[in-house]
Amino acid sequence: MAAVLPIPENPDFHALAHLLSGRRVVVLAGAGVSTESGIPDYRGPESRQRLRAPIQYQEFVRSEATRARYWARSAVGWLRVADAQPNPAHLALARMEAEGVVQGVITQNVDGLHQRAGSQHVVELHGSLAWVRCINCGASVPRDEFQTRLRDLNETWAAAMDGWSRKSDVEAAPDGDAELPASASRNFRVPACERCAGVLKPDVVFFGENVPRDRLDEAWRLFAEGEVLLVVGSSLTVYSGRRFIYRAGETGIPIGIINLGSTRADDVATTKLEGRAGVLLPRLAEALLPRSP
Ligand code: NAD
Repeated sequence: MAAVLPIPENPDFHALAHLLSGRRVVVLAGAGVSTESGIPDYRGPESRQRLRAPIQYQEFVRSEATRARYWARSAVGWLRVADAQPNPAHLALARMEAEGVVQGVITQNVDGLHQRAGSQHVVELHGSLAWVRCINCGASVPRDEFQTRLRDLNETWAAAMDGWSRKSDVEAAPDGDAELPASASRNFRVPACERCAGVLKPDVVFFGENVPRDRLDEAWRLFAEGEVLLVVGSSLTVYSGRRFIYRAGETGIPIGIINLGSTRADDVATTKLEGRAGVLLPRLAEALLPRSP
């Protein structure tokens, strides 16, 4: 990773401010925007090798045991996501949108923190952990309501869960998951859809699943409003986010990047600024927005 220079001497900071200045900015956000809110990313320099791979869609649908394991862990992880607060990076993006610099955010995050910071135009490319959807009939239920049903069905487990969720040695995992002992999902019961008894799944795009067509169309509409693409906190390893880089290349849209560590678009970016989004975005907002009198 390149050394991070203080802002006044950092030519990349000034180059990025210059690139964005006077242009309509569309933001592509990733997990790195939320690490300063305590939600881990997958591929940051500080994220250690995880004990297991992220859940796969086919496996979730096929196996009842997998679903029990997933929901037992995610019931603990959800409490941490629900408690997380927007950090200065989310707040700076919301402020730049309110001031007309940012047109909107295409986010790969599923934590809802952009909206809680005040961003209005957000396309949640990979969905939202705040909802649970039936894969059979499409009915959706707020996650908080589903959490209550999980607890009601698993009373003994729920009492133990309160202990796990307070333990600092229970590691939060990306996507609102948590690392729990294998015993945590033994005899765990998962509620079915109340309308059709189908399988319920968090309303997020798992690995092995596609982004729904209408959501992708919405993302492309937002993308088309921009004169520059600003990537923040994404390694761009996942094609789902990287496709916007390809389109920017095809249509001559310049790309600016703020990230800790390398990304898959460093070689095609007009400007890459190395560092923490929670530090750099507020400074960028100061540089781009007119000062209040
Ligand atoms: P990623 O983990 O592949 O990349 C995150 C990048 O952000 C890394 O390069 C990392 O070094 C950088 N980073 C970490 N902290 C940073 C900070 N403070 N400032 C600037 N950069 C920072 O994440 P991705 O590219 O978004 O892809 C991960 C996939 O996993 C996505 O599909 C997403 O849906 C999912 N995910 C979501 C969340 C969330 O909702 N918060 C969290 C983890 C993973």
